[in-house]
Amino acid sequence: MNYQEMTKILKDTLSLRWDPVAVRMMRPGEERPPQLIEPPVPLRHCQSLTVARRGHCLYMPPRSHACPDGSGILGLVEMSSKLRSGDLYLLFKKLPTLKIAQKMISTRPEFKAGSYEATLLAPLDQALFEPDVVIMTLWPEQAMWLCCAQTYYSGERQSFKTSGFNSTCADLIIQPMKTGEMNISFGCYGARASSEIDDFELYLSIPTPLLEPIVQALLKLGQKSIPEERRKVYLHPVMDKVGSRRDHPQKGKEGRDIEIFIDEQQCLGDGLCVAFCPSSVLEMKEREGRQVAEAVHPKSCSLCYTCVGQCPEKAIQISYS
Ligand code: SF4
Ligand code: SF4
Repeated sequence: MNYQEMTKILKDTLSLRWDPVAVRMMRPGEERPPQLIEPPVPLRHCQSLTVARRGHCLYMPPRSHACPDGSGILGLVEMSSKLRSGDLYLLFKKLPTLKIAQKMISTRPEFKAGSYEATLLAPLDQALFEPDVVIMTLWPEQAMWLCCAQTYYSGERQSFKTSGFNSTCADLIIQPMKTGEMNISFGCYGARASSEIDDFELYLSIPTPLLEPIVQALLKLGQKSIPEERRKVYLHPVMDKVGSRRDHPQKGKEGRDIEIFIDEQQCLGDGLCVAFCPSSVLEMKEREGRQVAEAVHPKSCSLCYTCVGQCPEKAIQISYS
């Protein structure tokens, strides 16, 4: 699968607002790839992400990096002693003591100065270089599906390490490159203050070797799970019941007065509701020569609404008091 195909699947399946951005750390001695422009004014690393996700391909040597912190952390230049010491964090009143500032600095992932010559950025479908990571700007639901996609092929849960400090450089580039694991960032003070990440957005960075299996898994999830979740298939009319005054104490699961109505005329007899019900409430029964679903143990119903959401004919209705 090429980067154009992966971009299309990511954008279509997740309804991404912004293009995924390919980022490569240019190694010493490596040739500058063609068709990348050096921006006419220096940009912060977080700003260069914003420009790339709007469709531009960027070559960013140290002179194009406006954030001295970011370019030091990314190993493009030697970090200034004022930043390295932690003094500036106190001056900006972002941290309370030098000891805490130094701890934050010493635990932050960094590349050694001189490790790289430039950052290269491009929308993934235009990348003419092999990215180290692919960074997406998204909202939490989209990030959740990328996590589900990774679990889909690996069975693993995700373990993120992030911070509100120096996050778009340290947590989106260095952390995933060092660990080989995807990572998130909520942006940092600098990124939130100087780039156009919206209040409801965050970033997620995927090391390139993980990208194709994640995209393949996303294709599968996009067939059923993602559209169902977006249609809120299990959202039942409980909201107006929560907080209402009850005349008597709430009964347990077995004690609720639940009515499960299944329209036998609409029922296809496919047994989906029976298969999905986690509480074995439903069974298929023969009626006039055909199979229809019946609620045989309504008192065991947990009101999860799975059967209602899965029934292709919307033949099931549940009421309770
Ligand atoms: S899912 Fe709907 S159509 Fe299928 S058996 Fe159950 S009630 Fe009938
Ligand atoms: S609401 Fe949940 S527990 Fe109740 S019958 Fe449907 S699937 Fe089973």
